[in-house]
Amino acid sequence: MSKVKHQNISYSSGISIAATAINSFYFHGIDYNAFLSSGFSKLIPLLSKPNEYTVLHHYLRDFSNISEEVDVMYKNIDDLSELFDFIKRVLKEVELSPNLNQPNYDECEDEFHRDCNCYPVLKQWMDYVNENSKLIDESLTHAAFQVVFLDRKFLHDFHYEISKKIKKNAIDMDKDDKINFTQKNGFKRCHFPVWMKKAVFYRDKGCCVSCRRDLTGYFNVSGTYHVDHIIPLKLYGNNDPSNFQILCDTCNTQKGARTTVTNNVSVPFWNLELEEYSKTE
Ligand SMILES: [Zn+2]
Ligand SMILES: [Zn+2]
Repeated sequence: MSKVKHQNISYSSGISIAATAINSFYFHGIDYNAFLSSGFSKLIPLLSKPNEYTVLHHYLRDFSNISEEVDVMYKNIDDLSELFDFIKRVLKEVELSPNLNQPNYDECEDEFHRDCNCYPVLKQWMDYVNENSKLIDESLTHAAFQVVFLDRKFLHDFHYEISKKIKKNAIDMDKDDKINFTQKNGFKRCHFPVWMKKAVFYRDKGCCVSCRRDLTGYFNVSGTYHVDHIIPLKLYGNNDPSNFQILCDTCNTQKGARTTVTNNVSVPFWNLELEEYSKTE
């Protein structure tokens, strides 16, 4: 069995992208997103079966734009040494180390570093970011996915919006797209690849998301589990990896094919009795 490679994940930048993407979703909906509004036919193959580059990656990719971020900072901050620090931090996070000189801010008397010798050096770093922007953006999208994928409540709401889009468009779609659909215009059931089942099981920490029963088989011998569509196929849900969760036998039977229940309960690193900390002194 092949091993999942350990990778450097740029959490700091990824979390910031995740936050922007989630806020945008709740403020503007999914049609505001360039990819999701780019046409229904593009979505169909993506949602028909589990792909490693999920629909959520496509959504998040729209918010990963390092060139734009650098440009906005360049135009809005006074002291350009802050921009250099930002670029250096992001490049380090994505494991890029350009062979470039560093601006000598300590020895420079210009407080903003716009009209001094520092600027041409910084410009080289900015150019480097632009030349590598695709790679940086993909790396940050990958990082943002790691955190958003944990948020089942968001995944539920996100896929519910997609299901509305599917329902609306399913009736008058092309013949080619129809092959992925059942007669009732929902996506066909598909094979679940092992990598995806493992990822969802790991994300849900081996517990039924509904009743919290342990399904690892470690504490509970009858630990069989089901990979469940958060938004069921019958309700125009899809087969993207971000639309799955794990349920025990009982909860899976109870949920049936027509409800969209999920649960944001998870296992924290440790517990906190929040009331104790919120008491005013
Ligand atoms: Zn300077
Ligand atoms: Zn259960």
